[in-house]
Amino acid sequence: MNHPIHTSEAVYRLIQEFNKLPGIGPKSAQRLTYYLLSAPEEQVQLLAETILSLKQRTVLCSVCLNVADADPCVICGNNERNRSQICIVEQPQDILALEHTGIYNGLYHVLHGAISPTEGVEVNDVRIKELMNRLQDGSVDEVILATNPNLEGEQTAMYLQRLISPLGIRVTRLARGLPFGTELEYADDVTLTRAIEGRQEF
Ligand SMILES: [Zn+2]
Repeated sequence: MNHPIHTSEAVYRLIQEFNKLPGIGPKSAQRLTYYLLSAPEEQVQLLAETILSLKQRTVLCSVCLNVADADPCVICGNNERNRSQICIVEQPQDILALEHTGIYNGLYHVLHGAISPTEGVEVNDVRIKELMNRLQDGSVDEVILATNPNLEGEQTAMYLQRLISPLGIRVTRLARGLPFGTELEYADDVTLTRAIEGRQEF
């Protein structure tokens, strides 16, 4: 599609790119584009470089599959962390939310999704195999299921519980204080802290 003649092609293209981002509609895309057009060139340069480094300077930790600067990540590489606990989350941003509470000192495992047969996400589409490998050496006493309190998160938690319990590992689930249908990354610190402290056998 050709750009409309009443603006430049560069402006039109950036509006199109912003418009592809989640939560950004056509109006916001325009606003951001014209903002950057009037911003100092150094600021625009920095933004462009920062966006690019997101892809070029991040790795997945080979242990917990979190997004990190190095492999293993700072959490897996930290000997002060409790290595007998693994908290299972759906997305890397869930770790940010849980770490922000400051009360959890164990390790993590990122599934990179949740099982959802209705949306065609099968067991092999999330990183469960890697988790099961981590549980083989007997060093883990407790697995905390911190998948989202929605349908997919519950299905995933139940599947994992059936898989992990026979290994003799304690399986807990975040307390029900989290409203059903929400996502962990949007929960506030107080709610999340209560959910971790009040976790129950699952
Ligand atoms: Zn890690």
